[in-house]
Amino acid sequence: MATVKTMHIGLDDTDSPRKGCTTYIAALLVEKLRKLGAEFIDYPNLIRLNPNVPWKTRGNGALCLRIKYDEKLEGEIKETVISAVEEYADLEFKGTDPGVVFFERKRIPREVKLFSKNAITGIVKLKDALKLLKKFKAEAIGFKRCRGIIGGLAAVGETLRGDHTYEILTYRIPENYGSKRKVDEESIIKMDEATAPYTFNNFDLEKRRVLITPRGPDPILFGIRGETPEIVKKAFQMVKPLEPVERWVIFRTNQGTDAHLKKVKNLKEIKPYNPVIAKGTVAANPRIILRRHVIFSIEDKSARVDCAAYEPTGSLRKAARRLMVGDRVEVYGGVRAPSKSNPLTINLEKIRVLKLAQKIVYQNPKCPNCGKRLKSMGKDKGFRCEKCGSRYPNLDKIEVKIKRELKKGLYITSPRSQRHLTKPFRRYGLEKRKASVRLIEGWHFP
Ligand SMILES: [Zn+2]
Repeated sequence: MATVKTMHIGLDDTDSPRKGCTTYIAALLVEKLRKLGAEFIDYPNLIRLNPNVPWKTRGNGALCLRIKYDEKLEGEIKETVISAVEEYADLEFKGTDPGVVFFERKRIPREVKLFSKNAITGIVKLKDALKLLKKFKAEAIGFKRCRGIIGGLAAVGETLRGDHTYEILTYRIPENYGSKRKVDEESIIKMDEATAPYTFNNFDLEKRRVLITPRGPDPILFGIRGETPEIVKKAFQMVKPLEPVERWVIFRTNQGTDAHLKKVKNLKEIKPYNPVIAKGTVAANPRIILRRHVIFSIEDKSARVDCAAYEPTGSLRKAARRLMVGDRVEVYGGVRAPSKSNPLTINLEKIRVLKLAQKIVYQNPKCPNCGKRLKSMGKDKGFRCEKCGSRYPNLDKIEVKIKRELKKGLYITSPRSQRHLTKPFRRYGLEKRKASVRLIEGWHFP
């Protein structure tokens, strides 16, 4: 009798800015492990971790493969995974420190889930990962400085029970790595129209720019994000690649869910590198600095922080520029540590304008005699009319309420500058409360 076991395989930090992609290793392993006889119990999970970790420059994505298998296959499965990492990770690159985690349990313990939450919303330490691995008798293989073990375990622990999305990723043949990606633009625009709002971040209408193709030397040809496995597959079938596709896989992911953002009760709680949602009142009018960045300050009873909207964040930046002292806002974004020249700063991904302050200007009154706008005779000295010569020592300036150019509501960075985790407009109202995972027919090729 065969004994069926469950294993969660976490992978992270195999790529470098010059080569590779951990999702590609996962895609290869889907083919290899299924050939061996392993059965997938979920789509490969692509878990984006805190994008504001200072030593992580790329998308900060970790992977988890969740499988059932005959106990006899265990050795072969592990060997297959390790040799794929050895073969495809950019091990010569300084700063690429791959990690693999084999977690052989059916259920993921609460502590490991909590570790993942912390890796997505904050900073976690290798030491803490190693402690958990030991406690739950999980196996981990670290290369070089082993940092990848952190992401590997974090991917294992994020089971995506709440809100989640899908992405179908397609890969190029190695001969084409590094060259310009060839995908028919018209077909992408048509696909976007046909599948909206159930796919997102396909095409930037404002700048007429394709968003589904990455720019680097990595093996990805394009990726389409959406709400269900069916819709991303349908969208994929509508897009015309103009170069060969080596393979494709549907991933389940926390992309587009705002999973990195954590609400703070007061501004004093904001810590560097921990992405936040915070409320405050605008305390200093927006100012424009270097290359048109917009900076403003917010405060509450506990503290005051700066908020920055950078080019090219489009409509968000425009909204930020129109804020004024007294406006009540909720801000969303990553937190930059204070430096010599700058205080603690929230790099904005979104602003929600909750309440607009009344904008008032004071004007000289009009002449009661002839209607011409009066001239001031100096502070507290009243007014005189240049047209008819009348003098009015007892008149005061009048209050005029000015219509604000800004409306209440939510402003989000434009799709081209959104983080992988940023929830785009299209997803509002489509959030999932529960996961019911079923693998569709044909969720990967080959
Ligand atoms: Zn007059």
